Amino acid sequence: MRIKCPTCKRELEWEDAAYRPFCSDRCRLVDLGAWLTEQRGIPTESQPDADSRPRQSRADDAD
Ligand SMILES: [Zn+2]
Repeated sequence: MRIKCPTCKRELEWEDAAYRPFCSDRCRLVDLGAWLTEQRGIPTESQPDADSRPRQSRADDAD
């Protein structure tokens, strides 16, 4: 059985799709992120890399 990844539209075998209906964990997260963004109605202000790297300027706000 063949399905299409909702994110990248790539065709894949249902049995091989570990993250079905997505082709990969990445596509799953992308779709989830897009959904959340849509729900919140966030404009283009968000920074894609902000969540994946540690914040280094927190010490300034601590006190
Ligand atoms: Zn995909």
